[in-house]
Amino acid sequence: GSEVDVDPGVEIDEENAEDDLLGGLQIDSTDDIEVPDRLVDQVIGQDEARDIIIKAAKQRRHVMMIGSPGTGKSMLAKAMSQLLPQEDLQDVLVYHNPDDGNEPKVRTVPAGKGEQIIDAHKEEARKRNQMRSILMWIIIAIVIGYAILAANILLGILAAGIIWLIFRYTSRGTDAMVPNMIVDNGDQRTAPFEDATGAHAGALLGDVRHDPFQSGGMETPSHDRVEPGSIHKANKGVLFVDEINTLDVRTQQKLMTAIQEGEFSITGQSERSSGAMVQTEPVPCDFVMIAAGNLDAMENMHPALRNRIKGYGYEVYMDDTIEDTPEMRRKYARFVAQEVERDGRLPHFTDDAVEEVILEAKRRSGRKNHLTLHFRSLGGLVRVAGDIARAEDREYTTRDDVLQAKDRSRSIEQQLADDYIERRKDYELQVNEGGVEGRVNGLAVMGEDSGIMLPVMAEIAPAQGGGQVIATGKLQEMAEESVQNVSAIIKKFSDVDLSEKDIHIQFVQAGQQGVDGDSASITVATAVISALEDIPVDQSVAMTGSLSVRGDVLPVGGVTHKIEAAAKAGCDKVIIPKANEQDVMIEDEYEEMIEIIPCANISEVLDVALMGEPKKDSLVDRLKSITSNAFEQNQGV
Ligand code: ADP
Repeated sequence: GSEVDVDPGVEIDEENAEDDLLGGLQIDSTDDIEVPDRLVDQVIGQDEARDIIIKAAKQRRHVMMIGSPGTGKSMLAKAMSQLLPQEDLQDVLVYHNPDDGNEPKVRTVPAGKGEQIIDAHKEEARKRNQMRSILMWIIIAIVIGYAILAANILLGILAAGIIWLIFRYTSRGTDAMVPNMIVDNGDQRTAPFEDATGAHAGALLGDVRHDPFQSGGMETPSHDRVEPGSIHKANKGVLFVDEINTLDVRTQQKLMTAIQEGEFSITGQSERSSGAMVQTEPVPCDFVMIAAGNLDAMENMHPALRNRIKGYGYEVYMDDTIEDTPEMRRKYARFVAQEVERDGRLPHFTDDAVEEVILEAKRRSGRKNHLTLHFRSLGGLVRVAGDIARAEDREYTTRDDVLQAKDRSRSIEQQLADDYIERRKDYELQVNEGGVEGRVNGLAVMGEDSGIMLPVMAEIAPAQGGGQVIATGKLQEMAEESVQNVSAIIKKFSDVDLSEKDIHIQFVQAGQQGVDGDSASITVATAVISALEDIPVDQSVAMTGSLSVRGDVLPVGGVTHKIEAAAKAGCDKVIIPKANEQDVMIEDEYEEMIEIIPCANISEVLDVALMGEPKKDSLVDRLKSITSNAFEQNQGV
């Protein structure tokens, strides 16, 4: 295929590449890494999108890119403009139309020619004006001469004044002859790239300015008020529109016409302006369109426009993560070099600073053996770290800077969560020692990248009618489901008939958004069993995990963030699903604070979480025998 393997220009230790965070790259700093010239070679991951861009550039096809922000959509669009032939570029000139002032003429010439034409016109106008003033001064001299002869100097001066005024006044007309160059590609070294994201109609389709003086010689000629839109500036190049669905429908329709026709007249966009009376001859707009957005955006897009792009081009999804391989890690090191170079002021990163960035890319992927492709925010981390080093005038950005930057570039959610933990500590809502019946420290994820400890309390009461599960707020459904799963297990080892009990489940202080229910089901189960059997739960333990009906602990998302939240809240141990063991990428500072205990089965969870030896042991033993089937299967994996 079109795989462009870019040599980083650095020695690679192939033998140890597998275990090395830098994939065996032998560097002291990112200064040693060569950054490729072409943007398309700088793109990391997104192989499919990149292949399509290369293909579409050859065939001049439109492309629709669907995916998360910051994964390289606009970067690829710009890269495409560098791949398009530059010979085709044109300048566009708008001329005064002597037959109809409201319909300016449009002429297209090869790039660079426009400036010559304008210069020639200006020179001609200058010469004409010069001739006019010579003529004027001759007439004035003659008039004053006659006046002197006729001994009426006053009249002579008056006449000279009138002549001067007439010449002044009519000279504006000659400016009208100089055309207005609305697209100037004279200095353009690649095909144009126009980003029209969020553009209003005028900016996208062109506009004609309003003229407050519409007559009397004070007016600006209409061709001079014509302004190009992105579609015209993108002629022979790339028009990039992100969040395409935010364009209003009428504008999308006009955009579609422009794509179909390859040319589009410019007219005033606001109806009450004098510009609306003006309409130019068609202006070329032969561009390749790259429309982008997330899945939602695509659904809300004008269907005809979408079909147009689809029918004449490609549709491609952007990846969010990529498999972590030594080769990929070497590319991530190059990414740091790229961002440093692009910024131009940041000190290069030392090798262990790069390692920390790559570690963060692993963490942010939230997926086993993967790296995140959300490069915009990763680039943000690089810039913040570099800025810290630059502020201190250091030659290199170090690992410490990256760690500090991580702290500073915490998301809003993360900052909220930290603040929340602090406040709860103040009010002693947080329990992280001793044993309490029916209370379990659960863990949840807030936003995308921040964990929070979320205690769950269960209380069992004799049912008034049939047994019910009663939970507060939105979490009702998930509480019911967790209890259902655990009740299948409870039935087997306990005499208590859950259908005769009301189970109240309270999520302490769960006014939070984004608490994902599923990952709390072992928490609910543990709380219910503890309340049912009157066995206290160790409050120095926090947990996350999903529960199957057979008692297996199933994997959940965001374990790394959850573990960190448990450590911050002061817990000593944290239970996670065994299947998530490889997703753990906590920072060093937390490693000593908390013990991570992977569990595959609810009996193991209870073994860790419950207190009070004889009762607990017999419960765990009974549970083990019931769920041993599932347990063994899990061990076998
Ligand atoms: P999008 O258009 O998808 O929102 P951008 O293309 O604007 O994202 O990405 C923002 C920045 O992040 C880019 O300018 C580039 O520095 C970096 N970046 C994004 N994706 C990639 C990628 N796949 N490879 C290398 N750098 C990337």
